Amino acid sequence: MDINLTEKLKQYFGFDKFKGEQERVIRSLLEGNDVFVLMPTGGGKSLCYQLPALIMDGTAIVISPLIALMKNQVDVINGISEDSGLAHYLNSSLNKSAIDQVKKDVREGRTKLLYVAPESLTKDDYVDFLKSPGVKVSFYAVDEAHCISEWGHDFRPEYRRIRPIINEIGKAPVIALTATATDKVRIDIKKSLGMPDALEFKSSFNRPNLYYEVRPKTDGVDKQLIKFIKANHGKSGIIYCLSRKKVEELAEVLRANDIRAAAYHAGLDTQTRSETQDNFLMEEVDVIVATIAFGMGIDKPDVRFVIHYDIPKSLEGYYQETGRAGRDGGEGVCIAFYSHKDLQKLEKFMEGKPVAEQDIGRQLLQETAAYAETSVCRRKFLLHYFGEDYPNENCGNCDNCRNPKEKVEGREEL
Ligand code: ADP
Ligand code: MG
Repeated sequence: MDINLTEKLKQYFGFDKFKGEQERVIRSLLEGNDVFVLMPTGGGKSLCYQLPALIMDGTAIVISPLIALMKNQVDVINGISEDSGLAHYLNSSLNKSAIDQVKKDVREGRTKLLYVAPESLTKDDYVDFLKSPGVKVSFYAVDEAHCISEWGHDFRPEYRRIRPIINEIGKAPVIALTATATDKVRIDIKKSLGMPDALEFKSSFNRPNLYYEVRPKTDGVDKQLIKFIKANHGKSGIIYCLSRKKVEELAEVLRANDIRAAAYHAGLDTQTRSETQDNFLMEEVDVIVATIAFGMGIDKPDVRFVIHYDIPKSLEGYYQETGRAGRDGGEGVCIAFYSHKDLQKLEKFMEGKPVAEQDIGRQLLQETAAYAETSVCRRKFLLHYFGEDYPNENCGNCDNCRNPKEKVEGREEL
């Protein structure tokens, strides 16, 4: 295919060149292949389906899990052209007349990208519409494809129904995209989406500007945190805690110490959450203390530290959460506090769950514990977890490389 893609890139997005594998991904999709894209957060996955959607005939169906993200992407696409009807979304936030308008635009072939929430896609009404004769699907994009897998960090059962629904609407190439690159997740995605022959593109998951450190969790954690934050005065950071209660408590403690901190968790009402998010983006607040409900889709480029007050449930989640630091390429300090007691607490939480889920949960937890206890390079360990070989002996940017230990040094045994 001899389309000048660089020209199109410039025309639609104003960028001079492609990042990483973008161009090869796009060509493969344009040639009619199923494509599987593994790129870390910030790698530029959206463009891999946005650009071909704008070029190809028909409408690309983009399946994406978050309504807030969807709106944001649609606004971006519609901002790049005089013709503001290029992208639309269908989800539960729209009323009947808005939905009718979207359907009309799609039928008239004006809509190049149609974002659909997975739970909307499973509704008969939408399926009937998408398979009606007036609608021409150019391809399907499954964003955040790890949601298909129980081994991912954000399992959504509706994602499992995507393939049967695609078959019903009508076959077209599928592009699956994720920043989750463990083998188990990768295999699950290809299987569930029925794309055994998909062309795979994987870029490195290394984030050289992120510094990784694990500290033993002792009684003085709050003091350590306050000291750290004060030493980094005015910088933006996120502190993750496991429970909502801890989030509230810690935010209170920080505020009592004159730190501009705010709490964020799914138990707060929508308005409070969106205000907190805005305050963080506008730097009215320096530190967000949050559960993992905070972060997905928040694109603050200069987050300077991500601290895990409690050990995360999986390394996958840990990588995603720390990945929110230093997106601008600048400094990003990632510190996790670890204790054997927390590990036991997490294991206890799992007891009421179905056996299969417990097995998965325990295995993921064990890998996190191994990361916390290792004396090898943390970067090497993390990358190995994503099936990537880190060739350097010393990364120079993790605690173990900066201060090599004499094997295990008074750490708690598992
Ligand atoms: P991902 O979904 O992989 O996390 P995004 O698609 O959100 O990443 O892209 C991350 C950022 O990179 C966005 O701000 C996007 O505009 C930018 N970007 C993507 N492709 C390019 C490119 N070729 N040149 C410059 N910036 C790009
Ligand atoms: Mg993305």
